[in-house]
Amino acid sequence: MPNVGVDIGSTATKGALWNGRSFICCITPTGWAPRESAARAVAQIKRRGRIPHDHDVRVTATGYGRNVFSADRRVTEITCHAAGAHYLVPTARTVLDIGGQDSKVISLYPDGRVADFMMNDKCAAGTGRFLQNMAAHLGCTLADFCGIPEGTPLQPISSMCTVFAESEVIGLLARGVPKESICLGLLDSVAQRAVNLLSRISESGDICFTGGCAQNETLRALIEKKTGRRVTSPKLAQYAGAIGAAIIGGGMQRGD
Ligand code: ADP
Repeated sequence: MPNVGVDIGSTATKGALWNGRSFICCITPTGWAPRESAARAVAQIKRRGRIPHDHDVRVTATGYGRNVFSADRRVTEITCHAAGAHYLVPTARTVLDIGGQDSKVISLYPDGRVADFMMNDKCAAGTGRFLQNMAAHLGCTLADFCGIPEGTPLQPISSMCTVFAESEVIGLLARGVPKESICLGLLDSVAQRAVNLLSRISESGDICFTGGCAQNETLRALIEKKTGRRVTSPKLAQYAGAIGAAIIGGGMQRGD
């Protein structure tokens, strides 16, 4: 029976299915109904994988919403992110995941098993939610955080707390500071939080950067510059948890 991995995140629900050559992935907003978003992801992935809708698949669920969905198996997001990141970037011994409402660092054994981890799920600062809130105040979108022109001066943001950072951003706009400089400063503050988290359990070696925020090349480059370590954001970075769930559910080894 085909194995589907579903990562029910706070913001986005991701699905992954191995088609014998590569992973097919899909994404849908979690919204207020994680059970429904997970069912939607399974239906989407079956369509993409050309599996008739009345054929059974074995589902392994992970992510914050995994317990509300009737999956065949549930596995913690730390274990799944580690397996997915190890598959995507086999040389990395550290995973940095920045998602919608939390961030985490996982250190790995060479075979991809979890050696240690640390999570920030208490504070929105340093997560995708922080950037989304700030984008709303700046009257821009997340896409504007991706296309910051090279050479843009960085406006440092001194407030570490989301609420105070909002007031600071509003004040900077009122002083006429260009939006791109503020966006760069906000990305820098997310990068600094990630570096602080990294430094608590991981000192050296390549880093695999996963989660939705890994799609931001400027953020990746800032973390690379601050750590002096190679930071890789694989193309399927946001799907690492779902891919890991599919790998664990199917008992798949790298190279299968
Ligand atoms: P979760 O698993 O917690 O639902 P994800 O890892 O799926 O989170 O990431 C979702 C987050 O990714 C969104 O909150 C959004 O802020 C962020 N995101 C998506 N695209 C981008 C982008 N291009 N740049 C920065 N952040 C992004």
